[in-house]
Amino acid sequence: MFVSKLSDSIRQLKQKGFRVVGCFPLYPTVELLHSLGVIPIVLWDLKDQVRSLEESDCHIQGFACSVARRLAGFVLSDEGALLDGILMYNACDTLRNMPEIIQLGLEEKGRDLPLFRIHVPMAPRDQTGSDDYFAAGIRELVRGIESAFDVRFSPERFLESVKLYNAMRSLAVELEALAAAGRVSYGLFSRVIRDGYFLPVEEQILALEEAVRQASSVKARDDDGRGIIVTGILPPPEAVCAALEHAGLRVVGNDVASQARSYGRPAAETGDPVACYSDFYRNHMPCTTLLYTSDGRVRAIHDLIRERNARGLVFIGEKFCDCEYLEMPFIGKTLSALDVPDLQLEIAADDADNVESLRTRIEAFAELL
Ligand code: SF4
Repeated sequence: MFVSKLSDSIRQLKQKGFRVVGCFPLYPTVELLHSLGVIPIVLWDLKDQVRSLEESDCHIQGFACSVARRLAGFVLSDEGALLDGILMYNACDTLRNMPEIIQLGLEEKGRDLPLFRIHVPMAPRDQTGSDDYFAAGIRELVRGIESAFDVRFSPERFLESVKLYNAMRSLAVELEALAAAGRVSYGLFSRVIRDGYFLPVEEQILALEEAVRQASSVKARDDDGRGIIVTGILPPPEAVCAALEHAGLRVVGNDVASQARSYGRPAAETGDPVACYSDFYRNHMPCTTLLYTSDGRVRAIHDLIRERNARGLVFIGEKFCDCEYLEMPFIGKTLSALDVPDLQLEIAADDADNVESLRTRIEAFAELL
């Protein structure tokens, strides 16, 4: 197994005496862990971190998405043994049963890892009255982390953590705007955002500040009418970002789950985690994995295309991700009605670096715009 930044980061944190909890994507309660003195690492986009799926293949079918397969591969690896716990919620059908699979895998290796979980009700809250249930789940989560790590919750520290994460989100929005203006490549922007998930938020902020500072010194490109929006669970692999840019396309906005859907809206600044996360999940940017937000997704994408003056949409399909594939035909149809072309690309676990077959389609799409 090839692991790099992620395990290096965890190792360094452990050497400094921190406890590190690996959080399943998509949108975990990172502020809460941080406020309790635990470093949350979100296990997003591990394609450069986990190259071999051998370990994962012993536990997960080959027809699961690469996000889940790499996540399992990492947690069950020797590097994953550095983690002090795992935090997850019911993000999608694939991730829903992962804790049991991972726990069985850990048992086989004689390892034990605290598992923290919440259940986010996926039905529209206004219709089901699930607020009390959700609030009880958040309180239980706080108690679980307190007891596992012998720490005590503080509303003041929680509010400080929320503010720190909001500062990070705001810098990510700023860097996205600089990428849209052609002052930093979308590939580099994506790398800064992705690597940030493996860092404590304080270091994430420093990395983003530096990237913003450097990009701000670069002259903006003229609007050449070749702006596109990228959507999907993960951003395009670096080779696809390069192919998009080589074809003259500029990413002027994104609706990617690990990018704008994650940082696009600040969390409510309150010392009460129930109020904060009720608002966070209820009013989250529309995402296929938060079923009650789905109705707003088409409008959100149309608004983004209009606001950024984009000419087309590129969908980065994560192979076997039913959540996204169920919606794309309808989204494509609504875009056709607006005369906005879309290009649907599929990325499988083993073709992150092999994009030659996609290059011609990207170039043909660029010709269309
Ligand atoms: S890629 Fe899709 S199926 Fe896989 S973990 Fe993410 S949301 Fe779930």
